[in-house]
Amino acid sequence: MEKADTPLADVEQRIARACRIAGRDRDEVELIAISKTHDAEAIAPLLEQGHRIFGENRVQEAQAKWPELRERHGDIQLHMVGQLQSNKAEDAVTLFDCIHALDRPSLVKALAKAFDKAERQVPCFIQVDIGEEEQKGGVAIKQLETLIAQARDADIPLLGLMCVPPLEVEPAPYFALLGKLAQDNGLAGLSMGMSGDFETAIKLGATHLRVGSALFGARD
Ligand SMILES: *Cc1c(COP(=O)(O)O)cnc(C)c1O
Repeated sequence: MEKADTPLADVEQRIARACRIAGRDRDEVELIAISKTHDAEAIAPLLEQGHRIFGENRVQEAQAKWPELRERHGDIQLHMVGQLQSNKAEDAVTLFDCIHALDRPSLVKALAKAFDKAERQVPCFIQVDIGEEEQKGGVAIKQLETLIAQARDADIPLLGLMCVPPLEVEPAPYFALLGKLAQDNGLAGLSMGMSGDFETAIKLGATHLRVGSALFGARD
């Protein structure tokens, strides 16, 4: 394969190839460029190349960066991929177009309230603690069904499930498990796959890739 001349072109080429191998359409997979810690100057090249889907993990940082970039470039889809505190739910609902870390009943309540107030519904992924690692966040697998039912009762639009597998071990079994949990619960979306493992995630059915360092370089 010829080397692409920008990081975005390189990632796109790798996504296209993984989709081909998996017999999937490129359109089935969304590339979210995770721009956390990077400033407007670092984000500009991607915008200039036409990329419009971005993700951040902190409400405050996103509020500082994105309103101005949005005004200049239009059409931007912004995803929240980090843990969300309930007291930031209102801000998140006005700023983001999708939330990937719904992980507890209190956040279901806070989001439902924020949707009412903002008169706007934001689709969500439920984050699953797929490796049973407490510090990673996400709902325990045992409590997933209950949380899904609570979210459905509260009319939260659910796109699917999200996970961050344990570091330094083969991610495929965790991606496969997330896929099975989503299927068992009638959910279509799978937010999984980061810089180090997005090709594997595509093979296992990912619909939303969250890629940071492969696009922007290493974070400090
Ligand atoms: C930072 C982050 C990513 C992107 O990670 P890279 O390894 O830089 O691609 C993906 N998902 C979440 C939840 C993150 O916080």
